[in-house]
Amino acid sequence: MSNLLSRLLLSLILLVGAPVVYCVSYFVLDGSLIRTDELSLLASNGVTSLFIVVAWILIWRRQVVWTAGRRQMTIVAGLLALIPALLVNLIISATSRFVDEVAIVIGGLCWCSVWLALTVFIWRETALERAKRLGEVSESAIACPNCGYNMTGLRQARCPECGTQYTLDELFGMLRERAADLEREQVEAK
Ligand SMILES: [Zn+2]
Repeated sequence: MSNLLSRLLLSLILLVGAPVVYCVSYFVLDGSLIRTDELSLLASNGVTSLFIVVAWILIWRRQVVWTAGRRQMTIVAGLLALIPALLVNLIISATSRFVDEVAIVIGGLCWCSVWLALTVFIWRETALERAKRLGEVSESAIACPNCGYNMTGLRQARCPECGTQYTLDELFGMLRERAADLEREQVEAK
């Protein structure tokens, strides 16, 4: 089994396991430690979210290039995901006085799915990172800005991999930009 396949399977197991964690934490907390239903559900939201966040990061951490920007965005995504979660919670609570519990559960579900979806975009590697990972970029190599294909030695400014057509000044401009990016990333990494 390849590494990627085992990560995908673990992700699937995580999504199936999350409701189990939710139920177990609810039954442990409710009645024994916490008196009200709403608080027990809120605490179970917290426990399950923590489980998902930790497991998700553990599964994918080696696949992600952890720049300072990505770390910050991952945390910001957690805060951003609170907005739709609270909105959904408010809307459901407003429509009926008797479904507060449902509002809490769906609000938690909403937070987890929004955060997970955001991490997929935040953690995705850029064309430049892909090129570096594949060893296709050295300081002087010209890589296709669109797909990272090494265009060194070509007699035309058209990428044979993705078909994007460039002008020479575009390629030189992007080469300078990339050198600046590399420099900035090296400074950030320090
Ligand atoms: Zn290309």
